[in-house]
Amino acid sequence: MNLLDLTPGQAESVLREFAQSVGAGAYRGTQAARHLWTSPVGSFEEMSDLPKEFRAKLAENFTMPRLALETMQESSDGTRKFLFRMADGQAIETVAIPDGDRLTFCISSQAGCALQCAFCATGAMGFLRNLSPHEIAGQVRELALLDPPIKATNIVFMGMGEPLMNWPSVDVVLTILNSPNGIGIGARHITLSTVGWLPGIEALAARAEQFRLAISIHAPTDGLRATLMPVNTKFPLASVIEAAANFDRRVTFEYVMLGGVNDQMEHANALAALAQQCKAFVNLIPLHPGGAMGFTPTSRDGIHSFARRIKDRGVEVAIRKSRGTDISAACGQLRVERLTRRRPPEAE
Ligand code: SAH
Repeated sequence: MNLLDLTPGQAESVLREFAQSVGAGAYRGTQAARHLWTSPVGSFEEMSDLPKEFRAKLAENFTMPRLALETMQESSDGTRKFLFRMADGQAIETVAIPDGDRLTFCISSQAGCALQCAFCATGAMGFLRNLSPHEIAGQVRELALLDPPIKATNIVFMGMGEPLMNWPSVDVVLTILNSPNGIGIGARHITLSTVGWLPGIEALAARAEQFRLAISIHAPTDGLRATLMPVNTKFPLASVIEAAANFDRRVTFEYVMLGGVNDQMEHANALAALAQQCKAFVNLIPLHPGGAMGFTPTSRDGIHSFARRIKDRGVEVAIRKSRGTDISAACGQLRVERLTRRRPPEAE
């Protein structure tokens, strides 16, 4: 049994029962469970506060699969990007973004993505498979196992994949990340980003914790949005805005600025109107060049005028800092570069 695919609570019950069944005392199970997420170790042998015999029995009966760290690249701005290889050979990426006291991990929820957004490098590789809970939360665990450990204060599901199309896994991962018996990151510091996958938004809304929701809007009309995001035909803007309005917490709109495509004043006006309908906060994202074929970023001035117009309409807006541009740190870019383009210089 893979202990890292369970919620911390489930894993602890399983381990307590097991400990009792081998005559070790249930508390030994609790001690072992702590080493999954709270004070993680890489193997059962390293659970040095447990008797050697008990560790051997754990290793015979359970697994704690590792992800192989294949590449690490560091940007001049301190952003670090990691490529992990999974047991079946698939590769996924994780980015660690420092900002003041915060260290935000941008994690992947799928290998590839089915949604084919026009400007996204992950979409270009197609859908490969869903990740299981241990492969998603494992990205955070593996970085905490490094020497020195790299520990997240915030998590955003903005790496590869559409998290709400992998809800059964993401549901468990949210518990692992947030639970005090797990990694213990506050729900308000965990953000799910979605194209507006409605069944998933409902599932997220049904959870009691205050996880944050970001919706990739990227265009304020159905016509334009459908050309950038094919998913708009399945879930048109009006239905996404309605879901955002019904969500009981504040929603953020993500809007990637594509030069000459979605960055005119008429777009700003329409976007502000949509944001007002569901009281959303607007995050403008400079296009990360590299993964996105055929698009050019909006100029700095262009982004600032666009932001000012939205603000003038009474909507809160921020311009996201572009991070890790020199290491292709946007969604899917590492894997694309590593696997299908050229070999990047070896990481130190
Ligand atoms: N599937 C989810 C989460 C992964 S993508 C979603 O679409 O929201 C996370 C964010 O990165 C999305 O807003 C996505 O549109 C954006 N993104 C993708 N490629 C980008 C690029 N080249 N430059 C800037 N943002 C990009």
